[in-house]
Amino acid sequence: MGILPIETIVGVIGAGTMGAGIAQVAAKAGHQVLLYDAAAGAAKQGIARTAAGLQKLVQRNKISAAECEALLSRLTPCDNIADLAPATLVVEAIVEKLEIKQQVFSQLESICSASTIFASNTSSISVTSIAAALSRPQNFLGMHFFNPAPIMKLVEVISGVATDPAVAQCIFDTAASWGKKPVLARSTPGFIVNRVARPFYAEALRVLEEGGADVATIDAIVRESGGFRMGPFELMDLIGHDVNYAVTHSVFDAYFQDPRFKPSLLQQELVNAGYLGRKSGRGFYHYGDTAEQSTSKPQPQTASAQPAPTAIRYRGDLGVAKTLLAQAEKAGVTVASAGHYHSPGIEIDGLRLALTDGRTATQCSAEDNHADVVLFDLALDYDKAQRIALTKSDQCSEQALNKAVGFFQALGKSVSVIDDVPGMVLMRTVCMLANEGADAVNQQVCDAAAVDLAMRNGVNYPCGPLAWADAIGLAWVVDSLDNIGSIYGEDRYRVSPLLCRKVYSGGRFFSDELVDDE
Ligand code: NAD
Repeated sequence: MGILPIETIVGVIGAGTMGAGIAQVAAKAGHQVLLYDAAAGAAKQGIARTAAGLQKLVQRNKISAAECEALLSRLTPCDNIADLAPATLVVEAIVEKLEIKQQVFSQLESICSASTIFASNTSSISVTSIAAALSRPQNFLGMHFFNPAPIMKLVEVISGVATDPAVAQCIFDTAASWGKKPVLARSTPGFIVNRVARPFYAEALRVLEEGGADVATIDAIVRESGGFRMGPFELMDLIGHDVNYAVTHSVFDAYFQDPRFKPSLLQQELVNAGYLGRKSGRGFYHYGDTAEQSTSKPQPQTASAQPAPTAIRYRGDLGVAKTLLAQAEKAGVTVASAGHYHSPGIEIDGLRLALTDGRTATQCSAEDNHADVVLFDLALDYDKAQRIALTKSDQCSEQALNKAVGFFQALGKSVSVIDDVPGMVLMRTVCMLANEGADAVNQQVCDAAAVDLAMRNGVNYPCGPLAWADAIGLAWVVDSLDNIGSIYGEDRYRVSPLLCRKVYSGGRFFSDELVDDE
């Protein structure tokens, strides 16, 4: 089938936030675009919003006035759905209601030619279910853009049960030719991004609910250790708790209430209270205009300055955290090996410091029969991380904890000491993201490359969860999930069969060359 040629006409139905953006993407690529909306004047208004946005780009010299004019000349507002008749592809971005979408597509089938491809931008409705009302379901698929459509690169190309694979490939190739990064996926609840992203919110909510750390500290750890642009609470406040909670709930229900996706009571309470986030002026944070409110933004918990150690000894292979040793030497700390007699870690004058493996520090203290145990959290890159989270066992003294604080401060990091929750903050989050991604692959929703590409380009993750799991070591990820799961005794942390299989076979998700798709 190939790419839809530039001469083909694209129809967009629904001229709201997403429809206007999708129309802009297709027009920018060179297609004539027909934009229809049921609300009188809405298509014209959608194009006017696009024009205003493009004008700003012209003023900032991002595009030329001629490019802006040419793009706008390819956008035509329509007053009647029948005006979409010449379109070869129609993308729908109307209200998120199954019956209404089905009715619109049935109507379009009688208006457009038999070979027209119909695509829905639905976020949560089964593509198979929409297609069930059509006489040519083979020509129907999901084309899920992300907001704002002209900027976000990802397009999830979703096949329902009846979708012709050649149609899916054609839309995949066409989206790529429009400058997007498409991925192919099977119609399942949440598709890729809205499914795999659930633990990003859920684990943070859980740590908060258990008093593991406060909102600002968890956000700071996720940003400054994890390299994410926003922390989970900042992001939920931006998305809106009503929207975020509804997505979680719909994925939970759609997977027959799999405990993996269980919504948070804490978030439900925010919704009940009307604390919806930025849009209502209050969510986890306050968003007031007054000086008092803007200066009262809570700061992450940050440990006070402690003396740097003069020497450390390391045991075994520190794996993903091994660059800490080179950093320590650079900071003037003497580094020596203590052999391999114990699990990997760092010793500082009687203190045992180790990367979390999902056990609590208190459990490690008991199992090792050693009081002074401090665990540190995962970082995306221990060289670049600006903050490191630590937790101490109940048996560990404050003086011993301060040795660990002083060590990371000597490496130039801010330190947040959190309570002793299993898997800390970032490790449990990343392990659960990878677990969910692995399950999506295991259940044939998409391939591993699609998971990582989707999470990087749909929600700007700093690293794909599966490549990140490779970097941590899949055995470490599986152990961490097992350990967290055995503490909670919940099915939520059950390990994906694919992760187990890869550990047994000594495999990875990607060879190093494959990790970077840019
Ligand atoms: P929106 O409310 O901004 O726009 C919807 C538009 O559709 C409105 O202009 C409305 O007048 C029009 N409309 C409603 N019923 C219609 C009909 N029967 N025929 C023609 N036009 C009709 O909504 P949106 O945020 O752009 O979302 C549209 C779709 O995209 C939904 O399915 C949504 O789930 C999906 N989506 C939204 C986002 C997002 O972040 N907003 C992201 C991805 C996907």
